[in-house]
Amino acid sequence: MTRFRFALESPAWLRTISWKILAACIAAALLVSTIAHAELPVAVPAATASVLGQQRDANIHWAAFRLLELAIPLFFLFTGLGARLRRMCESISGRRWFWTVTLFVCAYLVLAALIALPFDFYVGYVQQHAAGRSDQSLPNWLKGEGVQLAVRLVLASLLIWLPYRLIARSPRRWWLYCTLALIPVAFLALVGWAVWVKPLTTTYKPLDDRPLETRIEALAARCGVAHVPVFVGGNDTRVDGLGPTNRIVLQSNLASVETPDQIEFTVGHELKHYVMGDNWKGLAIIAAFLLAGFWLTDRLGRAAIRRFSRRWGFSELSDPASFPLIVFLLTVLWLAVLPFFNLFARHIEIEADRFGLELTHQNHAAAMIFVRDAQTDIAPDWDTFFLIFQATHPSCAERIRFANSYKPWERGAPLVYGNICKSK
Ligand SMILES: [Zn+2]
Repeated sequence: MTRFRFALESPAWLRTISWKILAACIAAALLVSTIAHAELPVAVPAATASVLGQQRDANIHWAAFRLLELAIPLFFLFTGLGARLRRMCESISGRRWFWTVTLFVCAYLVLAALIALPFDFYVGYVQQHAAGRSDQSLPNWLKGEGVQLAVRLVLASLLIWLPYRLIARSPRRWWLYCTLALIPVAFLALVGWAVWVKPLTTTYKPLDDRPLETRIEALAARCGVAHVPVFVGGNDTRVDGLGPTNRIVLQSNLASVETPDQIEFTVGHELKHYVMGDNWKGLAIIAAFLLAGFWLTDRLGRAAIRRFSRRWGFSELSDPASFPLIVFLLTVLWLAVLPFFNLFARHIEIEADRFGLELTHQNHAAAMIFVRDAQTDIAPDWDTFFLIFQATHPSCAERIRFANSYKPWERGAPLVYGNICKSK
């Protein structure tokens, strides 16, 4: 009633000005509170003792796995087990070369998997359940392990004759021909892993969320992409496949762990991988590693065989019994390049964050995703060992600080990806 009387008794000009001032005050207050909420730098959570303990455990498990991967081939070489296994495969196959090579390599892979199984079970099943990170049943876990081994056996059966044939036919240049032959295979493997192998153990469905689909399509349209295949399934959000099989995969529970603004940033991040073909960079790294790895395996392998041929029971790299030696050398070389690979991967990931922020301006929402990660089971900052050998992504702390500070559009500064996607 008071408001009615005021409206009747006040002069018209005063009424207009009063309402305008009131409306302006309300709008300003709302704006200030929105800006204050959105622009307040998000604090990096402190590391808890339990998370630091988990990072230390992860380092120990990783180092132990790698030592095991190096110890198993050395065990086959220095006990002479490799040479005995090759003789056994020769007699089973009736000395037929192709079957001796295939049988030997398959037997080696099965025995190596059995030796590693107790450790795999402890780290991949017992520890994951104890930490509440997995609710997978034991039969499902065993099925996953079995499928992985079966895929390795099928690939080995199809491919292993090739390097051995090339080593025998062209001892000087086999490393080059082998790389050239395996690049298309790596391409098929990258595609096949996403399209055929992963769906054997995980259910993927096309995205069935119309509002989210519309939001994704609007983002992609600003980057000149008409249709992005989006699937939902599994435990992590990423871009799988290459070329025509390239697709964004959203983790199955994304809608329950992220707000719509956070999902928008997440999709913006993944769009960088999709639009800029980051998986092709992965293929290029594999090709470079194969070339350098096979060349060094040739040089180091021949030198090692000259030194230990009596003890190992073979005198040629073309002997199938050399397979554990090749596995050992490639593992050592992989460990040597791993810190550089991780450095490059972290660069790709922080650039995907930059792309996502430029596309969506969801700085606050993005920072809160990494706060959530840092509050669950990921340490806010990587320790040095983890950073060098395992960190394929920047730490949560680095990503929070980046999301807090990266806003070139506010200063009118040019965007790094301004020529790829239209700004907001
Ligand atoms: Zn990424």
